[in-house]
Amino acid sequence: VIVRKLTAVEGLGSCTCIASDKTGTLTVNRQTVRRIWLPEGVSYRVSGEGYAGAGEVSRSDGSLPAAVESCRLRELALAGILCNEASLRFAFGEWLHQGDAMDVALLAMAHKLGLDPEAETDRHIVLGDIPFESEQRYAARFVRGEDSVCIVKGAVEQVIAFCDTMAGPDGPVPIDTLEVEGETLRLGREGYRVLAIAKGPLATAEGQQTSAPEQVPRLTLLGLVAFIDPLRQDVHDAIDTCRQAGVRVVMVTGDHPATALGIARELGLAASEADMLTGKQLELIKLDDPGWQQDFDRISVFARVTPLQKLMIVEALNRQGHFTAVTGDGVNDAPALRKAHIGVAMGTGTDVAKETASIIVADDNFSSLVAGIEEGRFAYDNIRKVVYLLISTGGAEIVLFSLALVFGLPLPLLAVQLLWLNLVTNGIQDVALAFEGGEPGVMSRQPRPTDEGLFNRLMVTQTLISGLTMGALAFSTWAWLLAQGMGVQEARNFVLLLMVLLENVHVFNCRSERFSAFRVPLKRNRLLIGGVLIAQSLHILVMQWPFMQRVLGVAPVTFSAWLSLLALAGFLLVAMEIFKSLRRRSAAG
Ligand code: ADP
Ligand code: MG
Repeated sequence: VIVRKLTAVEGLGSCTCIASDKTGTLTVNRQTVRRIWLPEGVSYRVSGEGYAGAGEVSRSDGSLPAAVESCRLRELALAGILCNEASLRFAFGEWLHQGDAMDVALLAMAHKLGLDPEAETDRHIVLGDIPFESEQRYAARFVRGEDSVCIVKGAVEQVIAFCDTMAGPDGPVPIDTLEVEGETLRLGREGYRVLAIAKGPLATAEGQQTSAPEQVPRLTLLGLVAFIDPLRQDVHDAIDTCRQAGVRVVMVTGDHPATALGIARELGLAASEADMLTGKQLELIKLDDPGWQQDFDRISVFARVTPLQKLMIVEALNRQGHFTAVTGDGVNDAPALRKAHIGVAMGTGTDVAKETASIIVADDNFSSLVAGIEEGRFAYDNIRKVVYLLISTGGAEIVLFSLALVFGLPLPLLAVQLLWLNLVTNGIQDVALAFEGGEPGVMSRQPRPTDEGLFNRLMVTQTLISGLTMGALAFSTWAWLLAQGMGVQEARNFVLLLMVLLENVHVFNCRSERFSAFRVPLKRNRLLIGGVLIAQSLHILVMQWPFMQRVLGVAPVTFSAWLSLLALAGFLLVAMEIFKSLRRRSAAG
């Protein structure tokens, strides 16, 4: 996960909802054609794995297609070659591919049917082009070979809107829309992504540039092609993790509802159609209508949505009080990415998406995003820990000084001693504390309320208790030493050493807000152990070093005095352990 805006790290930690793309994020986007359907109800299977031309096309019962059928299959494949922006060829002993995953898969299918895509493309001249856009969901190409034709491939509803006829064994017959839609639904339910391919004669004058949708003639449907796109392996677990972590996951896709639901079911994201909303339905309802909120809560799949609707969905989630992370790859995803609290671009996405996003998931994988949420929670926890350490030790100094003033005693520390305490000794520790490794179980906690600040009740309570304890311990020592008749300078030396020790001890309290300091393994943050030892050693060194003795007004102490002060500082640990265990008990009860 590449972070473009630094605050997005903690932002991810407080994310309560992920709106994820399907293709490429939940699935691997390695499209392979598995089924071909020719109008009039004949279905074929396609074998062979990955982006390679090895494999064959057979009837559903395993037998080879007859010559007439092969001829029609080839016509379909040829259309797939011509309306195509990718390349796939066998060179240097391996299959090399480039371009859109769906297009590459169509080329692989053509190889399996014995066609040579490069030779076929060379035989044709491109007259015009309507490139694929997720808004319109189809691509068209106008080409001239033996005769001029227009080829359209895309989402079934879009393509059949251009068709009057469909190919049959004895030439075109009027299109049976219901049958085609029924087949689309059947394939979709099995998790296939379906593409329709159609072709029609072009009547334009020679050489004329053609690239407007109005210029698409009436077409003949050649057939349907069904692709599988395997699920990413670890996504199922990542979705479970999200559920435990109280993070809502919704799938937002341009794909067909049946395909989207098929995949959502496999992922355990949705159970039935009631969990899904389609782009068409979205057009009819107003998402900001309060009556809708409750139903909206159970929707986990949005299918056949346009990028503009994706933006509306993100806005609706935001209105519900969600802190949303939204993934996207296309140019037209940019508005939704911007509206999201955390825009997440895919590593393979367009530059526009990456520019807009605050985070880039380099491997496109949904699980990496979930891992990012965990890291974000760690980061937020660590910020809290450091703030807690700094505020409570600062508070302790205020308590110490205030008590001294109230009781009319001399000031317990000199200005330079305070500086030493805050900048040098504590300054080493707080940096080390920021490197605290994450506590296990962060992903089984609910996300923190989005309206909750850093200073929630826990933070205030623990800061008060530890600050007061530290301040009181230091003040009692100060008062007692003076009462024993000790000189002010000598007593300050002891109080300063005690404060350094208290801070050394307190770092261990700060390592976890929930768990006992003894349950946080020391090896989780070796830097911290080093930091504490350095802070303490540095102070001991300074007490021995004549130059610094003069600067700080300190002097060496006996080992037994050091031990007594350490034991005194241990009280702070005891006090905070009691506080934590009481809190745990009340949380459990
Ligand atoms: P997704 O949310 O899954 O990324 P897309 O917007 O990429 O959805 O695709 C939506 C639909 O557009 C697909 O279901 C498919 O029918 C069609 N489609 C996708 N890629 C292409 C392409 N390269 N050429 C033509 N049609 C495509
Ligand atoms: Mg896509």
